[in-house]
Amino acid sequence: MDSNILEIKNLKVYFPVKGGLLPKAVGFVKAVDGIDLTIKRGETLGLVGESGCGKSTTGRAILRLIEPNEGNVLFEGIDILKLNKIGLKPLRKKMQLIFQDPYASLNPRMTVGDALNEVLYVHKLGNQNERKKRTIELLEMVGLTKGYLSRYPHEFSGGQRQRVVIARALAVNPKLIICDEPVSALDVSIQAQIINLMEELQKDLKLTYLFIAHDLSVVKHISDRVAVMYLGRIVEAAGKEELFDNPRHPYTQALLSAIPVSNPDSKRQRIILEGDMPSPVNPPGGCRFHTRCHRAKDICSKSEPETKMLGGGHTVACHFA
Ligand code: SF4
Repeated sequence: MDSNILEIKNLKVYFPVKGGLLPKAVGFVKAVDGIDLTIKRGETLGLVGESGCGKSTTGRAILRLIEPNEGNVLFEGIDILKLNKIGLKPLRKKMQLIFQDPYASLNPRMTVGDALNEVLYVHKLGNQNERKKRTIELLEMVGLTKGYLSRYPHEFSGGQRQRVVIARALAVNPKLIICDEPVSALDVSIQAQIINLMEELQKDLKLTYLFIAHDLSVVKHISDRVAVMYLGRIVEAAGKEELFDNPRHPYTQALLSAIPVSNPDSKRQRIILEGDMPSPVNPPGGCRFHTRCHRAKDICSKSEPETKMLGGGHTVACHFA
């Protein structure tokens, strides 16, 4: 884990809001509003926040499935936002995406063998015999056997389908996998199996993960570092232990307080987040979290906090951290 595989600088993704019959935008949904992130080679960065905070948009913007409005996304030092379609093609193989809903990302009319073969064929990876061998190898890598090759997605359980989706992502030998809520739709016991599998694959294949989730308890297991996102901005980032033991942003503290504790004598107090996240069309002035913050003071609605470096890679955007 030495060099950065991915560096994101001041990334912005705005979606136009159309009003009435006029084609002109009357406003913008500021889904991602100036974020900086780095991911080291071989690590897992957890990106967490409530639904609608911009974390999935960030994942898609990194892969240019959504075109960002501004910023830099450096993959192994190359700014992928500056590349044209031809320049982007070889990098697409190195960065893959795993979705939350494996059923939606598999063609129901294609057997698993055909789905894997298709990826290899499109990327010109081997002749017919080599592709056949590789599809079996890919299934075995995710804990399935060649007996599954002729089966259709509906014949699999949710966990097995997610294994197939992981196999498909691995087919092109990626270096970075963006995992967007990959276990959220699965039962808790199956979640643990898929996370264990992802950890084993990471070790064996030296993969790097951006692991997007709304649930801090899920990222806790797999992440090396965690970044917390609120209303289009990163509000806190730190190594996993540091973030869980010493959260400094009131939003992170509230999210952590919602995780059930196994110790019945624990004195931890639940911090209730009042209300919903404000609209990203008109984010609150000052600190964006001030409308829901249990520690807000006058200054919070007037002045936007800068991101402070607390040492050891811990950053936080709060006036009182
Ligand atoms: Fe809360 Fe103020 Fe800190 Fe924002 S700056 S998180 S409102 S205390």
